[in-house]
Amino acid sequence: MEKWVDMVSTHFSWYPWSMADRFSPAKRSKIMRSIRGKDTKVELLVRRFLFKKGLRYRTNDRRLAGSPDIVLPKYKSVIFINGCFWHGHQGCPLFVLPKTNAPFWSEKIEKNRARDEKNVSTLIAEGWRVFIVWECELKNRQRREATLEGLINEIWALD
Ligand SMILES: [Zn+2]
Repeated sequence: MEKWVDMVSTHFSWYPWSMADRFSPAKRSKIMRSIRGKDTKVELLVRRFLFKKGLRYRTNDRRLAGSPDIVLPKYKSVIFINGCFWHGHQGCPLFVLPKTNAPFWSEKIEKNRARDEKNVSTLIAEGWRVFIVWECELKNRQRREATLEGLINEIWALD
């Protein structure tokens, strides 16, 4: 198996298809909500990178639409680190609907996508620059480095 698959199973073991099917949709939904607010490994990875580059930030700022994972006031920028499944990353191999309860998941994820879009529009209207980093863009070292370098260059570009 490829290396990143190991990483996915370790870091993203909260994917619905890795959960036992004993949960009802309501229960799963509850589990999902409890997971959403936590600092994920990928979030920490991005934060550590930015910190090393000398950037200072706030995290999970609830005063802003969508409680962005990272807020860089000095650069008037916010960053969301999105799980490919929950946020419905189109065309991504990590976004595959589970066969069990497919309509439930499909509706759930459509709602998430709609909410994400609304949050992004609100933030842009408030003058924020919005960056979205997808989990799959951090999945192996080469891709991760390219993603993070690209991100910081974008952030610095308007300095
Ligand atoms: Zn993806």
